[in-house]
Amino acid sequence: MITNNSNRIYFKGYCRGIILIQGQVQFIPVDLIDYINEESREINIEYENFISQNQLKVFNCDTINFKWDSYSIISNVIYELSDHNDFRIINFIQNVLLCKLIIIKINDSNRLNVLLKFLKSEIFVEVYLIIYFTIENKDFFKSIINFPNVTKIFINSDNFTLSSNKIYLRSIPNKYSGNLIHINPNFELISESQYHHTYFNRKLYIGPNGEIKNAPECEETFGSIKDLDSVEDLKEIISTPAFQKYWFVHKDLCDVCKHCEFRHMCVDNRMPFERADNQWYHKIECNYNPFIAKWEGDPGYRTLSECGVISNENEFSIDHDRIAEINKEIWEEE
Ligand code: SF4
Repeated sequence: MITNNSNRIYFKGYCRGIILIQGQVQFIPVDLIDYINEESREINIEYENFISQNQLKVFNCDTINFKWDSYSIISNVIYELSDHNDFRIINFIQNVLLCKLIIIKINDSNRLNVLLKFLKSEIFVEVYLIIYFTIENKDFFKSIINFPNVTKIFINSDNFTLSSNKIYLRSIPNKYSGNLIHINPNFELISESQYHHTYFNRKLYIGPNGEIKNAPECEETFGSIKDLDSVEDLKEIISTPAFQKYWFVHKDLCDVCKHCEFRHMCVDNRMPFERADNQWYHKIECNYNPFIAKWEGDPGYRTLSECGVISNENEFSIDHDRIAEINKEIWEEE
C-alpha cells in the first residue's frame, strides 16, 4: 500500500489497483502502482500527469503505522430475543463491554413491547432492530421510529407504506448464512483490517437459546447465558483465545482475498478455515473474482476454478498463464 496522506491511499490487487481519494474509490492499473514504486524508471507521461494531478508521493507501506484499537471489548452484538432473555445482559453489554452497536432480532410483538420499555429507560448505544413479524398498527410503528437510539429498522414486509430513513424494507434471511460481502472504504476499517478480521473481530452473538458465540456463522458455542452464574462470566468467556480465534484472521492470511484490491475495505461473513501451512481458505467462493476484476453476473465473469485457481484444505495454487489468457480475452474485448 502507498499513500501520501490519509486522503489518498492505494491498494494493489492481482488485476488492478484502487486509489482512495477522500474516501472515493477509483480503480487504477497495477502498472501505475509498480511505476510509482520503481526507483529508476523510464518516464511515462500519462502516469506522470496522473501522479502530479493527484499530488501523489510514495511511502513504503511497512513504514505506515496503522494503529487500530477500540475502547469496546465487544464493538457489536447480535442478540436474538427469546423467552429466557434477561435485559440485564444488554445493560452489561453496553456498560461493561462498552459495545457501540446492538443488533436485536425479534419475532414476537409482546417481546418487542417489553424491549421498547427497556430501551426507553436504559439504552444509549446505537440499536438496529430486525423485526420478523408484521406490524399492523402504524402508530405503534411510528413510536418505534421515534426512539432516538434505534437508527435502523429492518422489516420484512412487502406492503409497507410508512417511510422513514430508518426503515429498511428487505427480505430478511432467518439465519445469517451465505455470502454477505460488503465494501466500505473508510479509514477506521482500513486500519482495523491490517491485523483483524473485519467481520468477526470484537463481535458477540447470543442466539435464540441463549447460546454464546463469536458470530452466528460460527460452529463453536461457548455455553449459554442461561447457565452463567453472573453476567460478569461473559467477560471471561470473551477474553479467551478460543473465543477470539477468528478475530485476527486478517485478509492477508486468506487465500484469494490476499490478492484482492478490496481486502482492506471488505467486510465478509464467510467462515475462514485454517490449513496446515497456517494460511486460511474459505469453503464458499466470494462473488468477486480478484484475478479478473469481475463480480458474479458481470459480462466475462469466471469462477476461480475456471481461472485455474485452487483454494482448499490441501493447497492454494494459481495458474498465472490461464489467468493471463482470460484477462486478455475479457479486457481486450471490452
Ligand atoms: S475476494 Fe471477496 S471477500 Fe475477499 S477481499 Fe475481495 S471482495 Fe472481499
